[in-house]
Amino acid sequence: PKLIIMGAPASGKGTQCEFIRGHFGVVHLSTGDILRKAATDGTQVGLTAKEFMNRGELVPDDMIVTIVLERLMEVDCTTRGWLLDGFPRTAEQGRALLDKGIVADIVIQLDVPDSILVERVVGRRTDPETGNIYHLTFKPPPNSQVSKRLIQRSDDTEAKVKVRINAFHKNMGAITDLFKDRVIKVKGDRSAQAIWEELKPAISTRLTAVPAPVRCGCWGWVCANDTKPNE
Ligand code: AMP
Repeated sequence: PKLIIMGAPASGKGTQCEFIRGHFGVVHLSTGDILRKAATDGTQVGLTAKEFMNRGELVPDDMIVTIVLERLMEVDCTTRGWLLDGFPRTAEQGRALLDKGIVADIVIQLDVPDSILVERVVGRRTDPETGNIYHLTFKPPPNSQVSKRLIQRSDDTEAKVKVRINAFHKNMGAITDLFKDRVIKVKGDRSAQAIWEELKPAISTRLTAVPAPVRCGCWGWVCANDTKPNE
């Protein structure tokens, strides 16, 4: 399977990705996680990316496109399939996939009202030892020991999340337009389990029914939106 999941910050993508990875066996590729690891490792790409991330801004398209295209060619992705989380974030990034003939089978769109997103983001905390994510109100840590070591992502402040949500809305329409016929839209302001129960059969059904990508005459790259022969 070749899957893309889209949703604003804190729309619940991470939790659904865990379910999808566990059930369908795909490689989960979170571009946010890849960039944060590069920043922690102190690579040149990571340090440059960190400056954008700290401001809540998107990193430049060419930087993230190179990282993702190289990663998708690795053998685990080509054999097990993949789930892209956080990419594409712009129409440019979407076109970069299509230009290489990489057409996702399904694009999952998690839809959550902005007011809920802000509340979720500002209370979000990570346990650096386990990687577990908590919310101070909705999913408190299990004990005071874990509580003491929790950290907040530097871009999880109210001001920065508003920048990130605006960027998401600005680009979202153009991206879903690129993948029109393969978007599954689900309401994300429900329990993670309820979302998964809707998503799982929807993904399974689409994976068996999805049309193969074709070379598209009017667009000039391989896509699945138009079956007209190259004229
Ligand atoms: P996330 O963990 O997905 O919220 O991503 C955290 C930050 O990483 C974003 O706010 C961006 O600065 C950067 N980032 C992640 N994915 C992308 C992408 N596809 N394009 C540009 N920047 C990205």
